[in-house]
Amino acid sequence: MDKTGKNDQQWQQELSPERYRVLRQHGTEPASSSPLNHEKRTGEFLCAGCGAELFQSGTKYESGSGWPSFYAPMPDAVETTSDTSDGMTRTEVHCARCGGHLGHVFPDGPEPTGERYCINGTALNFKPEGR
Ligand SMILES: [Zn+2]
Repeated sequence: MDKTGKNDQQWQQELSPERYRVLRQHGTEPASSSPLNHEKRTGEFLCAGCGAELFQSGTKYESGSGWPSFYAPMPDAVETTSDTSDGMTRTEVHCARCGGHLGHVFPDGPEPTGERYCINGTALNFKPEGR
């Protein structure tokens, strides 16, 4: 799943403790904790693990969930697996390049996809357009 070739120890050295917990240990940040919830500028959201471009600002919307939400990822940017932890079956979303855990996708999003990508801001870096 991890195409970067990094082992767990390398990830742990490279990432902040919070990012390591979310990206590599399937953690979830507290609701409403991410400054990216309120990020409204035009730009791209990159994987905080490997820098892959994952979401564009045009697909971000206010879901009210407390986590940055998107209705679609960029093409081939993410992969999904079934997650049965916590007594629920959910669809887990991870970065297609480094395998870093991003969040979950739910079937209650807006048009045109009807999907809600509920993503940990901790797993993302925002790159404003033109920088
Ligand atoms: Zn990545």
